[in-house]
Amino acid sequence: MFIEPSRRREPPHLRTGWIEVICGSMFSGKTEELIRRLNRAFIAKLKVCIAKPALDTRYHEQNIVSHDSTAIQSIPVQSARDILALAADSEVVGIDEAQFFDDKEILEVCNQLANTGKRVIVAGLDMDFEGKPFGCMPQLMAIAEYVTKVHAICVVCGDLANYSYRLVPSREKVLLGETDSYEARCRRCFRLGEQASSGKEWVYEDHEKSGSH
Ligand code: ZN
Repeated sequence: MFIEPSRRREPPHLRTGWIEVICGSMFSGKTEELIRRLNRAFIAKLKVCIAKPALDTRYHEQNIVSHDSTAIQSIPVQSARDILALAADSEVVGIDEAQFFDDKEILEVCNQLANTGKRVIVAGLDMDFEGKPFGCMPQLMAIAEYVTKVHAICVVCGDLANYSYRLVPSREKVLLGETDSYEARCRRCFRLGEQASSGKEWVYEDHEKSGSH
């Protein structure tokens, strides 16, 4: 479990900011982990603000809401740049659903916030429904001081899951709306589903056979 580095005894002008990334598939508890860290910052009497892209309309407009419905007040922003003004007086900045922000802009904003001494905690999907790296997330993980990958449980076999498997036929990258259009799957069950829906045969067993010779 992530433990906050302690810099509270340093004089303010010596304190440095940093970036934390929390990534994983849908149903992996990313938002719950973001909320856990932000709650601890509240307890530490730090000034906290939370932003999310305005385009994420899945739940209540003004709140960051996790799947277990623990809500923290958050502010929808049209672009990543808006976070700079929003976070001007904050010591800790939470950003949810970061994969939906413009790639280049969110990187610059996170760096700028951290460079001015703020702790930036960013949560987002690391892969899209095709299992490809999602938007800004790979770059954010590269520039972050701390990266935490959280895992869901595969609803098919019960192993650890890191893929968001889409249950509906749409091929659009962003399919907003509905968490019930997805399920968490492990690598094996994700590929099984992909290949069943594309009509191709699954090749994994062939590899297993050739490996046993
Ligand atoms: Zn599985």
